[in-house]
Amino acid sequence: MSRAFNFSAGPATLPEPVLQQAQAELLDWHGVGASIVELSHRGPEFMQVAAEAEADLRTLMAIPDDYAMLFLQGGATAQQALIALNFAAPGQTVDYLVTGHWGKTALKQVQPYVAANVAANGEPGGFRDIPARESWKLSQDAAYLHYTANETIHGVEFGEIPDVGDVPLIADFSSSIASEPLDVSKFGVIYAGAQKNLGPVGVSVVIVRRELLERAGQPRAEIFDYRAHVKGESMLNTPPTWNWYLAGLVFKWMLAEGGVAEFAQRNARKSALLYQVIDNSGGYYRNEVAAAVRSRMNVPFFLHDEALDKPFLAEAQAAGLISLKGHRALGGMRASIYNAMPEEGVQALAAFMRDFQQRHG
Ligand code: PMP
Repeated sequence: MSRAFNFSAGPATLPEPVLQQAQAELLDWHGVGASIVELSHRGPEFMQVAAEAEADLRTLMAIPDDYAMLFLQGGATAQQALIALNFAAPGQTVDYLVTGHWGKTALKQVQPYVAANVAANGEPGGFRDIPARESWKLSQDAAYLHYTANETIHGVEFGEIPDVGDVPLIADFSSSIASEPLDVSKFGVIYAGAQKNLGPVGVSVVIVRRELLERAGQPRAEIFDYRAHVKGESMLNTPPTWNWYLAGLVFKWMLAEGGVAEFAQRNARKSALLYQVIDNSGGYYRNEVAAAVRSRMNVPFFLHDEALDKPFLAEAQAAGLISLKGHRALGGMRASIYNAMPEEGVQALAAFMRDFQQRHG
C-alpha cells in the first residue's frame, strides 16, 4: 500500500494516524465487542466520544463557555439556511459580504426568509480580491453580517476579522476552521462542514454565542431550531456518530501535534512555498488573487498554456500527487493544503512543479 499526497478540496486528506486508529478500532471499540458506529448514540460509549470531541475542540480553538457547540448533519449549506431562520426576525435585514462562490451560495440559502443586503460583492472583479472596507454598504439595523472566511474555490481568504461594530458576525469557516488561532469572542456564530480541516464529510460544527439563541427568529420546525439542538446536546435525532467519532480522533491528533498555533506555522510555510513557486515561475504558473487575500488553505493556479493541464495532472498523479484538478467553475489547478496535508506533501508538489516547468518549458 502506498498513500499519495492528496490535494482534494473536500472531502480531503485525513491524518494517517487517525485512519490507522479508526481501522484498528473498527471491529471492536475499546473492548466492548462492537464498533462505535454500531452502538447507541445515547449509550455511555458514544456519549464519552461525543463529550471528548466537544471538549477537545473547545480546547483547540479556545472556545469560551458562553458559546454553545453543536455537531449536526446537513453540511455547511444547511447551516447557511438555518442561520436566517434562527437569528433574523421576519422583515429584518441581514448583511452579506460575497467574496466567492460560497458567499453566493450562503446568500441564496437565505433568500426565501429574509431581505438580504449585499454589503460588498467581489464578483465584478472575478473574486480576485476582497472589496475594501470603506466600500462596504452596511445596513442600519442588520440582524447579523455573514461572510466566508476562506473561499475554497476562489482561494480568497480574509486576513482579518471584519470590523462591523456591534452587529453579530456569522462566518462560514468550512475551509479554514482550526487552521490558525482565532478570537472566537469576536463572533456570533462560526460554522463549518467537517470535511476539510476537521474530519470526514457528514457532520458540521456550529459554535454559537448563547445570547443569540434567545432570538425568536422565524417560524420553524424543531429540527431547524439551534436552541432545541443545544438543549438536546446535538441529539434531537440520531447524530452522525461515525463522522463525529472520526472528527474527535482528528481533534486528539491536532492536540498531540501541538494545537492550532503549530498548524498556523505549518500552514503559513506550506502556502508561502507554493505561492513562491508560482510567482517565481516567470508566468509559467499564475495565481490571480491579490497578494493580501491569498488563501493559506486553497491555492488555485493556472498553467500558461491550457494544453499543458492534462500532462500536468497525469504526471502529477504518476508522482503520487493526486486531486490537483481545479474546480470546474475556474478550471486550471487547485492545491488544497489543510492541516492534515504534511509539509513534505507540499514540498513534493513544489519540486514537481519546478521540474515540470523545466521539462515542458
Ligand atoms: N462553504 C464553504 C466555504 C465550502 O467550501 C463548502 C464546501 N466545499 C460549503 C460551504 C458547502 O458545504 P457542504 O457541502 O458541507 O454543504
